[in-house]
Amino acid sequence: MNPAIRLKNVSKTFIGGAVALDDVSLELNGGKIYGLVGPNGAGKSTLTNVISGYLKSDRGEVYVNGVRIEEYHQAIVKAGVVKVEQHPNLAPALTLLEQLALLYPYFIPDLGLVKKKAEKIAEELGVRLDLDQPAERIPIGQLRAFEIVRALILSEILHRMGKRPILILDESMAYLPARQKRRLNDYLRQLTELGYTVIMISHDLSDLIKAVDEILVMTNGRIVSRFDSKKAELDDLIKSMFEEMEYFIPLKELERLEPSNEKAALKLENLTIIDDRGEVVVEDLSLEVLEGEVHGIAAVPGTGEKELAECIYGVRRPASGKIILFGEDVTGFSTPELRKRGVGFLSDDRIRDGLILGASIEDNLTIGSEKDFSHRIFLDPERRGKIAEKLASEFQIVLRDLRSPVETLSGGNMQRAYIGRVLGRWDKLLIALHPTIGLDPRGVKLFFDRTLERRRRILTTVIFSPNLRELLAVCDRVSAFANKKILGTYRPPEITIEKLGMMISGLMEVARA
Ligand code: ADP
Ligand code: MG
Repeated sequence: MNPAIRLKNVSKTFIGGAVALDDVSLELNGGKIYGLVGPNGAGKSTLTNVISGYLKSDRGEVYVNGVRIEEYHQAIVKAGVVKVEQHPNLAPALTLLEQLALLYPYFIPDLGLVKKKAEKIAEELGVRLDLDQPAERIPIGQLRAFEIVRALILSEILHRMGKRPILILDESMAYLPARQKRRLNDYLRQLTELGYTVIMISHDLSDLIKAVDEILVMTNGRIVSRFDSKKAELDDLIKSMFEEMEYFIPLKELERLEPSNEKAALKLENLTIIDDRGEVVVEDLSLEVLEGEVHGIAAVPGTGEKELAECIYGVRRPASGKIILFGEDVTGFSTPELRKRGVGFLSDDRIRDGLILGASIEDNLTIGSEKDFSHRIFLDPERRGKIAEKLASEFQIVLRDLRSPVETLSGGNMQRAYIGRVLGRWDKLLIALHPTIGLDPRGVKLFFDRTLERRRRILTTVIFSPNLRELLAVCDRVSAFANKKILGTYRPPEITIEKLGMMISGLMEVARA
């Protein structure tokens, strides 16, 4: 039998000169789950895009199940490749159900049946889908889960047509809570028994080791090593991802300083928030964040934490309750009014909310900071360039030319451009929503180094995240958000990952009911 995937001397250089694939030769057998890891910009998305026919290589040959892949349609229909892209790939105004109907190019599907199918898979994975809502109204976590369900349906159609599907998940699982990830892994494992092959791209090495048969490591456009996951050692993996080990410094227990100042930066009083579907997602919540502290809010994505963050940033109004910022009642203030008072926001949906894709990297790094490079009404392009250059180097953005469109960067580097802009502003209060999702270990370190520098400058940071290990390592205090409320606020030595995790998994049960 042909190998599921075979690449022969495949190279790809982008306009602008980035070598994304450098003479890659590779064979993958069918019926297995592969993990693909490597730093931002290594070429993981490009490699899988060449397999899915979405991109054409400059040199070399790509075969899937023996079929030579030269274009997109052929990869899907003839060879059975289905890919969930790194960033949501949906029409904003169409409902999820309408987007499912697009899967059937040759006949008009029975939407009732399609809906049942999607609901059945969603139930098996333990995810909730609002199939009748347009994509633009659905939070990113649920969108990602939907795209996975959609890919599973398409693979099943292809399987019924007699193909051996190749399912590629490009950093698509990052938003799923641990339990949904486990269920998806079990589901995928069953599919391999039917002859499916799965490629998962992820930065979560410890998760990956449990889920896959083999791990491939990519750096600089090459596959540099392959590990049998049963034997793989995390250290060896990380070593092969980052040839220079000093780049990866794991988060350490910090010397925890007492907050320098017992003044409150932010006070939430009896806040109730209603989401876009009209459901109460935050109820009678109170919280106090001190000036200069790093305050973690441990929360499962998609349980109301985003609405809470948006409320603090003025994107959404609370139904009742008060928001006090540095002693001033700012309830109902607009985002520009809050920005003037020093509030910054890092969105979890960084590409959609944070970047102008066709604008240059330089512009994306400096939008909103015009006062730093202007004299009265005149902008100083040279100074703008210097600021952008400094941020690009501080945030280690791999680029050729600051004036190229930001969309020419790899996904991880695009995120860094946005994160660099937001963190470059030294806001008095920064609300960061799931800041490390999608970042490689080096990007994670950059974010937390900056956070700690903010703390030294007595600037306040609130981090919403499900990553309890990170929160407990860097935060002065961590609050558990569950069941629409703050269940408790703890200083890290007082609480363990296990206990916080239990509070959050309790939340998952409530949210599903
Ligand atoms: P990864 O998925 O491992 O983070 P990518 O495959 O996205 O990396 O990117 C590999 C390299 O190719 C990077 O240097 C990136 O900047 C470059 N690149 C990716 N897409 C484009 C594009 N559309 N135009 C120009 N360069 C690109
Ligand atoms: Mg990528």
